[in-house]
Amino acid sequence: MTRHSEFVVQVSGLTRAVGTRRHEVRSGRIPGLEGIGAKVPPQAEIVVDVILEAVIGGVSVTGTVKAPWAGECRRCLSPAGGVLELAVRELYTPGGDCDETYPLFDDVVDLELMAHDAVLLDLPVAPLCRESCAGLCPRCGEDLNQGPCGCVVERDPRFAALDVLRSPGEPPAHPSSGPV
Ligand SMILES: [Zn+2]
Ligand SMILES: [Zn+2]
Repeated sequence: MTRHSEFVVQVSGLTRAVGTRRHEVRSGRIPGLEGIGAKVPPQAEIVVDVILEAVIGGVSVTGTVKAPWAGECRRCLSPAGGVLELAVRELYTPGGDCDETYPLFDDVVDLELMAHDAVLLDLPVAPLCRESCAGLCPRCGEDLNQGPCGCVVERDPRFAALDVLRSPGEPPAHPSSGPV
């Protein structure tokens, strides 16, 4: 069952004594990391930097997972992207099923299982190219980040109704400024 992967860590030396720790940095590709709004590009390297510690009943894994992501800005549809840096704290136990805990099998910890789940859960669902993205004009479709598109801004019909009450040329009505 043991896979050959950058993320597979042999822990037989570690599990002999509770409290033993080891620092591991592993990197590689993980396929299938695709969400609704963004995905990890297939060639992107994912970096797992963790401390493994032998605990009663298993191995705890604490550290960070770093993964680049790419998507499409939900406002202007141009490319959006960034790097996720996620804090992880998981437990590997014999009989783990990736639900409560991850499997510890033949003294092997597969960090890919944990990294896969953490990244998939945190991929942005509605990414933005930047926080202040102005988006596209709903009328002409022009990218408003490049400047105004020239469309006449439609007024709220409720204000148009107020205009009818005003005679042409008269300044906006004000309760205290009417003729006495
Ligand atoms: Zn945008
Ligand atoms: Zn426009």
